[in-house]
Amino acid sequence: MSWASKLSDPYRIDHGKKFRLKDSDPADTGYCRTQEHAQELLDKGIADMRGLQDKLYAQGKWAVLIILQAMDAAGKDGVIKHVMSGVNPQGCQVYPFKQPSLEDLNHDYMWRANRRLPERGHIGIFNRSYYEEVLVVRVHPDLLKNERIPDELIGKNIWQDRFEDIRNAERHLARNGIMILKFFLNISKKEQKRRFLERLDNPEKNWKFSAADVREREFWDEYMTAYEKMISATSKKHAPWYAVPADNKWYTRVVVAAAIVNAMEALKVSYPEVSPKERKQLLAARKELEGKK
Ligand code: ATP
Ligand code: MG
Repeated sequence: MSWASKLSDPYRIDHGKKFRLKDSDPADTGYCRTQEHAQELLDKGIADMRGLQDKLYAQGKWAVLIILQAMDAAGKDGVIKHVMSGVNPQGCQVYPFKQPSLEDLNHDYMWRANRRLPERGHIGIFNRSYYEEVLVVRVHPDLLKNERIPDELIGKNIWQDRFEDIRNAERHLARNGIMILKFFLNISKKEQKRRFLERLDNPEKNWKFSAADVREREFWDEYMTAYEKMISATSKKHAPWYAVPADNKWYTRVVVAAAIVNAMEALKVSYPEVSPKERKQLLAARKELEGKK
């Protein structure tokens, strides 16, 4: 078993039926005893990812879609910054999904996400995603009104219907060579409070503080129920969720890196093979070049 699978498999959910959030400890640090140990592994993960991305890009067949979902201050931005620090920006796009714009709301909710899907050979990161449609919209059903879906289509099964549609959309992507990895950064309510206070106390972090985030915290339990139901309904072998402990940032980052490395290794990406005919052409080009000034 590789280090990457040893570190990330415990948090991977391929079949969600039995998933219960209470079984996931936000403070878990697995077999990483020290922060230094985690940093060593993270460095290794970043180096591995660089090599894998290079092949992914050269081969141009697979795409990787990484979805990050979490409560505020769980560390999504830090994961993006640290875990992706080694990859070539040319083959990687990050897209943050904020509140939908008027143009977004004139379309079905998948529209804006579909437009941002990674190309073949690329890694795409969704900082939040269409999963907000079964999270924030479920916790605040008033938001549904803005979506202007015909009333007769909003039944009491709306959330189950959305899960089904998302499962189908992801199966479609998986069957087309887009590998999907979904991360729920699982922070505790207590640690979130500590990080909000830090944002208030530290001038360099003031800009990150938002009073709206504090209000949203009052819906913590509703969010946790929504997350549990979402993970339970949409974890599939071809589109797994990882419930990553997020009370220690250094641990969150190494687990996410390990999960990405492990999944990309499984794709067995390689540089395109040069056929005997192409090799001949390369040799001819070399000769020609040598003969020139
Ligand atoms: P940060 O605060 O670190 O900049 P963020 O992802 O929290 O990052 P914000 O602009 O603070 O970004 O928040 C985006 C907000 O948009 C979140 O509250 C999220 O729930 C909301 N949002 C995202 N998608 C939807 C959606 N489809 N419908 C309604 N609200 C949404
Ligand atoms: Mg925010």
